[in-house]
Amino acid sequence: MVHETGYYDTLGVNPKASPEEIKKAYRKLALKYHPDKNPSEGERFKHISQAYEVLSDPKKRDLYDQGGEQAIKEGGMSGGGSPMDIFNMFFGGGGRMQRERRGKNVVHQLSVTLEEIYNGGTRKLGLQKNVICEKCEGYGGKKGTLEKCSGCKGRGVQVKVQQIGPGMIQQIQTMCAECQGQGEKFSAKDRCKNCNGHKVERKKKILEVHIDKGMKDGQKITFHGEGDQEPGLEPGDVIIVLDQKEHDVFQRQDDNLIMKMDIKLVDALCGFKMTIHTLDNRTLVISSLPGEVVKHSDIKCVSNEGMPIYKNPCEKGQLFVQFQVEFPEKHWLPEHLMYQLERLLPPREDVMISDDMEEVDLCEVDTQSQQRNYSAEAYEEDEEGPRGGVQCQTQ
Ligand SMILES: [Zn+2]
Ligand SMILES: [Zn+2]
Repeated sequence: MVHETGYYDTLGVNPKASPEEIKKAYRKLALKYHPDKNPSEGERFKHISQAYEVLSDPKKRDLYDQGGEQAIKEGGMSGGGSPMDIFNMFFGGGGRMQRERRGKNVVHQLSVTLEEIYNGGTRKLGLQKNVICEKCEGYGGKKGTLEKCSGCKGRGVQVKVQQIGPGMIQQIQTMCAECQGQGEKFSAKDRCKNCNGHKVERKKKILEVHIDKGMKDGQKITFHGEGDQEPGLEPGDVIIVLDQKEHDVFQRQDDNLIMKMDIKLVDALCGFKMTIHTLDNRTLVISSLPGEVVKHSDIKCVSNEGMPIYKNPCEKGQLFVQFQVEFPEKHWLPEHLMYQLERLLPPREDVMISDDMEEVDLCEVDTQSQQRNYSAEAYEEDEEGPRGGVQCQTQ
């Protein structure tokens, strides 16, 4: 029994979500609400991190499912990691020590189609980044002209005295605004005109992102040392995270593709030939022989027509086709022909009716209002297609 769903709601997942679904939800939300991209959503970023911290740990998730947020607090299980630590751990930002000597990593999400992942390709991505100022080589001004800041007398802080009541004063220390807490600064004439003394300048950089065949949703592509530059620090990395868009026809499950195909009742019973348009623009013809009955929801597969295997793209997974049989509309066959049809169909089973049974009416269901009730309660399940591993049967 799930009592509380706040953390699940924060991540926008169903309380029965798999660890992969939780990871994916965190990935999308954390990138969207990261303070670098969305500075006004700091609280939201924190909540997302908290929810992920608990739900990504099987023990904490169990505890939460049983006793909610209170159980997590009482168990001393909350507040372990800062939102940034959780983010950096997830996206591979390195450890705390490593990060102190290195500039920040920059994480970008790149939206890609299933076709791009199937066929591979290159995408150009324009990024703004800080680079060491070329003019002053990151010094900020003319060499040897750095002077003690007169605003703070070299201390980097300014002390303000404030009267807070009769005879009561309060001292407030703030970072010196004139030298940004450095204690030293350049006079206006010696300051580098190019970077205005900031030591770095904003430049546009084009990255070529190679998308290899068979890469996965959420896969990271790292550009070492392409992050923001800062004097005295090794630059961080740019990390590109692939975000695969949903496809109209195919759903991906690992290296396999899954699709639904509508067939008519006549196809299901008397055999068919159908075409499938592949992600690389080929047309496949599949067929079923007369007499091979295909039932509604039956799944068949085509070998080697799934996704290319990453790093081994000559091999591909399976293509699973799930058939949906369309039945004819009401009164499609004149009543006097029904008898002929019945003679051709497998015989029906007789039902014995006796006097002590009650005959009742079978009515149409108002499916619209019924559906509204369902969707209010039910969670979006099977978003990713059949789960639990469909297997290709070789006969
Ligand atoms: Zn100062
Ligand atoms: Zn400069």
